[in-house]
Amino acid sequence: MSDFKEIKSRVNIVSEIQRITSIETKKEGKTYAFKNCPFCKHHGCFKIKENEDFYKCFSCDIKGDIFTFYEKYYQIGKYEALTRLAEQINYPLKQTNQSTPAKNIFNDIVEYYHKKLLNNNSALKYQTHTRFHSIKTLELMKVGYTTGRLRAFLTSKGYSDKEQIETGMITNKNGQIN
Ligand SMILES: [Zn+2]
Repeated sequence: MSDFKEIKSRVNIVSEIQRITSIETKKEGKTYAFKNCPFCKHHGCFKIKENEDFYKCFSCDIKGDIFTFYEKYYQIGKYEALTRLAEQINYPLKQTNQSTPAKNIFNDIVEYYHKKLLNNNSALKYQTHTRFHSIKTLELMKVGYTTGRLRAFLTSKGYSDKEQIETGMITNKNGQIN
């Protein structure tokens, strides 16, 4: 079984999301209803069905499993979500990040700008209301919103100046790296 599957089977998604967000939950029949959605903050629309391992918000339509929750909530990548969850439940990872290239600067850039879009209400509204793209399309196409803070993000991910400049998205002008 893969680490992802193994961890998923060991984590109780309801109590894990409760633990992270401290949002009150009540049980309505076979469904756990969170008092509000951790993402859009609307009341009573963020739900997890008993014996299922994914969440869904009926207001902002965000959904996924515990890994995507970690990714969205903490704005981290898939492998970091895996690592954090593994630590959380004291699970020894079988695969190391060396065997799967977790570090891919272009993927990280795409994800970074994509998350900027999802977290920027006016940019998102422009895409959905003026351009008429659905959230699904935006997610599928990884549409992004650029801000001038890529450099700080890449540095925080541990990319060297050289690696950053090689992408062509960061420039070095007389020692001023931006
Ligand atoms: Zn929501």
